[in-house]
Amino acid sequence: MTTPHWIFGDQLGPHFLTPAGKDGPDRGAPVVMIEARSVFRRRRYHRAKAHLVLSAMRHRAAELGGRVTYVRAETYREGLRRAVGGTSVTVCHPTSHAALRLVRSLPRVQVLPARGFLVSGEEFAGWAEGRGGRRLLQEDFYRWVRQEHDLLMEGGHPAGGRFNHDHANREPPPSGTRELDVPSPYVPREDDIDAGVRDDLDRWEREDGVRFVGRDGPRRFPATRREALSALRRFVDRRLASFGPYEDAMLTGDPVMSHSLLSSSLNLGLLHPAECVERAERAWRKGAVPVNSAEGFVRQVAGWREYVWQLYWHFGEDYRHGNALGHTEELPEYFTELDADAVTANCLATVLAQVRDTGWTHHIPRLMVLGSHALQRAWDPAAVTDWFHRCFVDGYDWVMVPNVVGMSQYADGGRMTTKPYTSGGAYIHRMSDLCDGCAYRPTDRTGPHACPYAAGYWAFLHRHRRLLSGNARMRRAVQGLDRLRDLDEVLRQELRRASEVP
Ligand code: SF4
Repeated sequence: MTTPHWIFGDQLGPHFLTPAGKDGPDRGAPVVMIEARSVFRRRRYHRAKAHLVLSAMRHRAAELGGRVTYVRAETYREGLRRAVGGTSVTVCHPTSHAALRLVRSLPRVQVLPARGFLVSGEEFAGWAEGRGGRRLLQEDFYRWVRQEHDLLMEGGHPAGGRFNHDHANREPPPSGTRELDVPSPYVPREDDIDAGVRDDLDRWEREDGVRFVGRDGPRRFPATRREALSALRRFVDRRLASFGPYEDAMLTGDPVMSHSLLSSSLNLGLLHPAECVERAERAWRKGAVPVNSAEGFVRQVAGWREYVWQLYWHFGEDYRHGNALGHTEELPEYFTELDADAVTANCLATVLAQVRDTGWTHHIPRLMVLGSHALQRAWDPAAVTDWFHRCFVDGYDWVMVPNVVGMSQYADGGRMTTKPYTSGGAYIHRMSDLCDGCAYRPTDRTGPHACPYAAGYWAFLHRHRRLLSGNARMRRAVQGLDRLRDLDEVLRQELRRASEVP
């Protein structure tokens, strides 16, 4: 008799159903899917994210047809009881500590190894152990993955003679242009399933006390494997070539630029990372894309994404509570409500509007505009993590805990990164057109045009002077404080502005 296999809403690709002896579901196993309303009651998600997840689950159920038992329930526990009664089920290792605790607490649920990643937990543990106590640096992990998986390698050497092409991938946007000259990304077409989801979300808001944030629609991200494959194909064939040089740049009128927009498809499990990086590598081998672009994309998928997944489990459940800088300020209402129109600072207003309207912005606005401002204003890192998790279409616990606690807010005291990531207005000015037309000036620290990032940067360094002066990568920046004649004025001003909308 085949054992039913339960798939979560982020396990939607065919690779979650492939049989593999004792490590996989039974061949042709009946499938169980549960839409648990409590998930949407617990957290106030971006509505476009709720729409995407529900649309993807319902599309997958429609594809599986009579093979699936799809239950709409209040909780997973109730849904599983209704779906299979007392029968045993298998499930692939879920993607959060909370979900893992849940499935382990349920009787007759057999948890199979995780899927959807290039590196297994055992392989990572072996790599980490082999480092003999040295830091688990992303760059070292990434190079190991490239070698282990023979990715972008030529005769044992990295393609293009080096593992890291960051030097070619940090170009500011081309001057005098509002949009990158690149074909537009794949855009899915909504169908009746999307209309049904939208009706349900309306009804939940109206009658059931469920609350969302942000704007929903039209859907911009793939909800089916077919859509995700189309998006991958279009990205690699039409957009990857210009991805590398401008991957860190920002343009007010072009939030997407050459980015792949594949993170939500990967994190829903619609795509496997192997097929994404292999396709990029093939494009490079054919001479269709330069090596720095292929490498930049492979680094995101096979380097950063895998690294973040492994660290989430490696650091354990308490990691999320890290607050090495002692930041406790509440997130202001304009931020939690995604009220971009209330914000004067052009960079923050623009990026917040992108999040409000789409549930997405690329990695640099996340890190150097949203995250940097939160860090400078000493916002509670747990609340910042929760905000990113709720407001981004690709946000999941395993993604956001390391990315925000470790990378963006330095709340782990440097376990993940070697320094805090924040900057003054000069960085944003160099890497974008966002300062053009802003009411503030990126070089002004004080006065009516004082840029919140320029002043906030120095206030941040001053607040953590002692801690940061012990960090070799921050020492010079901290020494710069002593050369600021107007430091006292900057600090007084930032104290006053701490509770103001920037
Ligand atoms: Fe942002 Fe400052 Fe530039 Fe305005 S001047 S867009 S606040 S960095």
